[in-house]
Amino acid sequence: MTAHIGDLPNALTDGAGELAKRLAGKKLALFLDYDGTLTPIVDRPEDAIISDSMREAVRGLAGRTSVCVVSGRDRPVVQELMGVDTLIVAGSHGFDIWSPSGGAFQKEMGGEFIGLLEDAKARLHAVMDPIEGALVEPKKASVAAHYRLVADADKHKVKDVVDAILADHPNELKVTPGKMVFEIQPKIDWDKGKAVLYLLGELGLDGDDVMPMYMGDDHTDEHAFEALHGRGIGVFVGHADDPEVGGRTTYADYILNSMEEVEQFLNGLAR
Ligand SMILES: [Mg+2]
Repeated sequence: MTAHIGDLPNALTDGAGELAKRLAGKKLALFLDYDGTLTPIVDRPEDAIISDSMREAVRGLAGRTSVCVVSGRDRPVVQELMGVDTLIVAGSHGFDIWSPSGGAFQKEMGGEFIGLLEDAKARLHAVMDPIEGALVEPKKASVAAHYRLVADADKHKVKDVVDAILADHPNELKVTPGKMVFEIQPKIDWDKGKAVLYLLGELGLDGDDVMPMYMGDDHTDEHAFEALHGRGIGVFVGHADDPEVGGRTTYADYILNSMEEVEQFLNGLAR
């Protein structure tokens, strides 16, 4: 059952007691989104730098329990940004995983998709390069079209080219909307929810003694909240007053309203 984001109890205050009960006697397996969850949302993706205090909060917890950052970014980029070597990192929405005990393992993507993504990237560049503020970000298993810095009058041009690419490959490509970004991905039956369930199995964390928890702020994170619904804990990071969050519904169980609250929550879990 979904809830309105505005109705979620806060994980630090009104929801804290119930949350503590659910965690009691269990081994925590924590999954964290990066952008917007551990860092503020910024105009340019390369500026999304984690603060030292947030990094220390994650490091403190990663030394005690399984902590995995699950991101749409490429895995080596996330590892570099985090700089915590006891952390499990799942990049490309879980296509590319690295763990301290097992090293790197990849879910293979078919070669036909690599060509399609190259074509999509070229078409995005052709339309978006002349648009002030537009940014094409090629990734290993997707290509992202950023329009946060584009003038309102031009934003439709980005949507139009994304729609045109999708219309030409309705069975091979899909788009996931994010915060002022369209992410074009191969239409493989895979998302952050499947990644989290896969990781739980792969890391031997699928037993009854484990309580999985996922924290995220964006549309792609809903797959993970849904996958864990009724089995684990979902924490939505954001504010119900945010126009990009609006009247959305979610499978998450709790909310944290700011980076400061996330940091405080992580420090609390490490105790
Ligand atoms: Mg995010």
